[in-house]
Parts: sequence; structure tokens; C-alpha cells
Amino acid sequence: MRRQLLFNAGLITMDAERRQYRRGAILIEDDRIAQVGESDRLQLEAAPDVARIDLRGRWVLPGLINSHVHTSQQLGRGLGDDVDLLTWLHARIWPYESNMTEEDSYVSSLLCGLEQIRSGVTCFAEPGGQHVNGMARAVSELGLRAMLARSTMDMGEGLPDAWDESTEQSLAIQVANYERWHGKANGRIRAWFGLRTIFNNSDDIIVRTKALADQYNVGVHMHVAEIKEEVEFARETRGATTVTHLNNLGVLGDNFLAVHCVWMTDAEIQMFADHNVKVSHNPAAAMRVLGFAKIPEMLDAGVCVSIGTDGAPSNNRMTLIDEMWVTSLVHKGRLLDPTAMPAETILAMVTCDGARAVLWDDELGSLEAGKKADLVVINPDTPTMLPMHDPVANFVTSMHAHNVESVMVDGRWLMRDREILTVNEAEVIEEAKARAAAIVKRAGIKLPDRFNVVN
Ligand SMILES: [Zn+2]
Repeated sequence: MRRQLLFNAGLITMDAERRQYRRGAILIEDDRIAQVGESDRLQLEAAPDVARIDLRGRWVLPGLINSHVHTSQQLGRGLGDDVDLLTWLHARIWPYESNMTEEDSYVSSLLCGLEQIRSGVTCFAEPGGQHVNGMARAVSELGLRAMLARSTMDMGEGLPDAWDESTEQSLAIQVANYERWHGKANGRIRAWFGLRTIFNNSDDIIVRTKALADQYNVGVHMHVAEIKEEVEFARETRGATTVTHLNNLGVLGDNFLAVHCVWMTDAEIQMFADHNVKVSHNPAAAMRVLGFAKIPEMLDAGVCVSIGTDGAPSNNRMTLIDEMWVTSLVHKGRLLDPTAMPAETILAMVTCDGARAVLWDDELGSLEAGKKADLVVINPDTPTMLPMHDPVANFVTSMHAHNVESVMVDGRWLMRDREILTVNEAEVIEEAKARAAAIVKRAGIKLPDRFNVVN
């Protein structure tokens, strides 16, 4: 058995009692946390063969959980800035995504995964590109943990020809992905079922997807009530706004992860609470398409809310740390209430509540004995984060990705002292640049020049 003792560190455990230590230690045995406690005691008790890592001046948090990130869109960063939604979708993102090969998706996911690791994310939920095989290979090599789904669309206007498939085909491919990938990478990959949006999913596929997710005991990941036009479309074509319609179909349940959830009535928030639906809040992407999700109201109603970055062409910062900061600001501004969304609530959304949202809270989301050793070491000694008068607030309001020093998943360091240990980062960056340019050329995407280009 491989044993490691991280000691002399500040610990934010996020356990049920919300214990924190100014001088704490964590004993790790193989892939799991064996003990969490006071540093002096654990140092004394540790056997001589335990590898000891002194983290003086550092803080340890549970690994952050990003509950909505499009890894396949990483090479499309910058394709969606300052355009309306139809241009974004029809002229930029659909041509980009439909021109990707499996190898492109693999490299895009590697690049995105590197940004996730560098910003303290150990686990994410991916709503689906086309090439689950490419995404899964990247997750395996990076050492991350992920819920992978395939983007599933069986109807809708303007879809690229390459994506024309029947309801039966869409479902069969997802079952095949489940059989190929669920439980792989030492159990770090889980296969989920994906639904894109109500614009692109028939009632038949929505109902049958939920039934399959129940049968396989995994989650359903869907964009829900994202833009105003969506709820109007649902009302016109299905007779009710998105969430009410999903409720009428009987698909709301505790394994349903609904993303964005901006255009919802109070009654619909109650439907989420009644059915224990999980929410992924993506504030930066939501503001891009002009909406403010009623997150404090959802939390008051008892809904489990997590945070996601969305995809690179929608945000474009794929760091959950920045997203915490945005979350801390946007609701204060919307409600004119500086006490709205306190830091401890936001830290829970990316740790213990994030784990509930991805249906993995039995093993993830907090630093406690028996859970997986997924954690982040923070070095706060930068001009941007000091002083640490109120550490919990600092993690939300003044931490940056550059404060993330080391990242561990399953007891294995993916990054140590800011050096990536699992993949060759420089090679990924070179490959990503070449492939991004090639996809845009192949897809015929033209961006207008801003300013006078001299040469
Ligand atoms: Zn999305």
C-alpha cells in the first residue's frame, strides 16, 4: 500500500460539520483518504514508511467539480465573441463542431483538461460533443474524473447534415458509449446520457433517455430554459414552458442535471425542489445570452445547485475559480443585496454540492476519511490573494488559477508545484494550435477583422 501524509496545511474539509484546520494533516492510503486531523497528532502517529509532504503556508481544498464543461469546444475559443445567438450557433459553433474529427476532439479535450487541472478541477460533467471516444481517451491520460455524455439531437432547424440521425440511432450510440466507457480509467469515467436542448430533442427521445438513465443508474445532462426564445418555443410547440413541459413528461428526477435554468417561474423552481433535480449554474455564459438564473431563490427552495464553466466559445474562461467569483457578484447586483450568495455557499457549490450534482457524493466533494483522495493545494502567497484575513472568502473572491499549486486525483498527483505530470503540456499546446486553425479552415468559418490589420 502506498501511503502519503500531507501535513502543516490549512484544510477546508467541507464535511458535514464544515470543519477547517489552520494546521491540519491528511493521511492518504492508495487512492483514498484514511484520516483527516490535527497535524501534530497525525505526524506523531504516522508509520516510518509514510511519504511526508510538508505543506507549510499552503491550504488544501477538496478537488473542485465543474458540473458543465464542453471539452470538445476548447479549440473553438474566440469563435463566439460579440455575435447574436443565431450567428453563434449556425455560422460559428455548428460548423466548427460538425467539422471535428475524433482526433480533434481528443486534442480539444486535452487542452480543456489542462485548463481544468490548472484551475483546481478534479472532476467534471461533459454534456456531450460528438466523439465520446476522443474525450474519454483524453480524460484517461490526463488522470481526471468525468461524467461523459454524447450531444444528442433528433430534430431541429439548420442542423448540419453530418448530425442527421434518428431517435433510435441516437439512443443506440449512447448505449454503446455506456458499454464501452462506463467505469473505465480505474473507475474515473462514468457514462451519462445527454440531451442537447428542447429545440433539438423530441418528446420521444427525452422520455426514452430518462428511462435509459434510470435503467443504467446514471444521470441525464440537459440544457434547460437557457434563453427566452427557448421557453417561448416550448410554449408554442409543446403547450408549456420548458420546465413545466419536462415535468409533464415525468422526466424530472434526482438523476436529472439541468444546466443554465435561467428562464424559470417560481412554480418551476418548486418542481425542481420536489423532484430533487440538480442544477448547474453557469453565470458567465448566461450573461452572454442575457439572463440571470434565480440561484438564491433555488437555494432557498432547497434545490441542489452546482457551478459550471460551459464551453470556451460561450464564456471564454474555462476556470471554475473565475466562475465562483462571477457567482459571488452577479446575484448581489441582481438583488441589490450584498449579503446574497455568501462565500461559504459558493464554495459548497463547487465541492460537496457539486459532488451531489454529479451523483458521486458518496466518494467525492469533501476531505474526510473513506473518500477518494481528490484534492487541490493552494499557495496564497501572491500579491493577488494576500492577506488571508478571511480564508473562505478569499478562495471565492481573490483566488486565481495561478494560486493552484498542486492537484491530486485518486491519490496521484496530476500537477505538482505547477508542473503537469500526466501529459506533455507543450506538445498538447502545439497540436491544439494546428488543429484549431485546420478546423476553422475546413468549416469555412470567417471572422471579420477588428481594427486595421496592417500585416
Ligand atoms: Zn452548454
